[in-house]
Amino acid sequence: MHQEIKKEDIKRKKVAFVSGVNGQDGSYLAELLLKKGYEVHGLVRRASTFNREKIEGLDIKLHYGDMTDPYSLLWALKESKPDEVYNLAAQSHVQVSWETPWYTAQTTGIGVLNLLEAIRVLGISPKIYQASTSELFDGLSKETYTEESRMNPVSPYGTAKLYAYQICKNYREAYGMFICNGILFNHESKRRGDNFVTKKIINEAPKGEVHLGNTDASRDWGYAPEYVEGMWRMLQQEKPDDYILATGQTNTVKEFVGWVEEVTGRPIKILSQDDYNRPTDVPMLKGNPSKAKEKLGWVAKTRGKDLVNKMI
Ligand code: NAP
Ligand code: GDP
Repeated sequence: MHQEIKKEDIKRKKVAFVSGVNGQDGSYLAELLLKKGYEVHGLVRRASTFNREKIEGLDIKLHYGDMTDPYSLLWALKESKPDEVYNLAAQSHVQVSWETPWYTAQTTGIGVLNLLEAIRVLGISPKIYQASTSELFDGLSKETYTEESRMNPVSPYGTAKLYAYQICKNYREAYGMFICNGILFNHESKRRGDNFVTKKIINEAPKGEVHLGNTDASRDWGYAPEYVEGMWRMLQQEKPDDYILATGQTNTVKEFVGWVEEVTGRPIKILSQDDYNRPTDVPMLKGNPSKAKEKLGWVAKTRGKDLVNKMI
């Protein structure tokens, strides 16, 4: 017997809007959300050469825009009507932020204000994820950082991210918006930008030598696909909150080179190059992911040589 399907009976797909969808995390997150049945919209910038390899073939509705262009954000959000917004777009490289401090402040800091205001102007109320970072900490005390630790960024990138972190907290408290700051420690993958130290070491390994700056710096390196799952879990909670995602283990850049040598079975000579030293660097980062484990059931599984294996 023919039964009429009423409009309200058709379950609407959840809609997610991802800025920075073309980046490492954005591409993994888009894949995850598509698997979960979301309709995915992404913000992309115009580039003069093709740069969409990471999201090629994914069923994403792309909107041209820029975090520094409030009108483009208004249009993209108005057209996509998202239930969840993941703000991953940023000038994300710490060293580059020393050469482009103004641009980094506009994109990585004020861009977040542009996004939040666009959401308010449109009168929509999606749940919002903000890509915060372990670069909010100075790494000087060599402590294991928690969500309560003192923030004292030491780079233009970290400082722009501190503005973003705080404006998100302001809007959450003042306007009751559902906004989560994910304070993510370094996470890597095959899709990591080529000028981040892990990917650079792996790319250069076949040559048997690599030019590096500060190899005593120590980072808490995890695996990006696991971290985007954590982002999604934050927005599935009843109340918005801030969470650290980290492995809880820290290793020096030198040790990372050692892992690559072990995995590839080939020695790598470290050549010191001053160009890669930063005016100030964060000496050590190690995060305590206990809150994420307890509230989100999230745990980082991949680290050390397993991570290198996945990146090669
Ligand atoms: P990524 O690979 O550098 O991706 C950043 C994305 O942002 C790119 O797709 C880029 O577009 C886009 N973007 C940059 N400036 C923009 C602008 N003005 N308007 C619109 N889009 C812009 O970074 P990721 O590693 O995926 O990181 C994702 C987010 O997490 C970033 O906010 C980063 O700062 C933060 N984070 C990353 C880590 C980490 O270890 N990976 C740790 C903590 C926090 P194009 O493709 O056109 O360049
Ligand atoms: P960050 O933690 O977000 O700054 O990630 P990076 O991968 O860019 O840098 C991690 C650490 O590696 C920092 O302490 C850098 O100073 C150090 N490092 C040493 N040599 C290099 C290099 O050649 N490139 C980069 N990107 N970092 C380097």
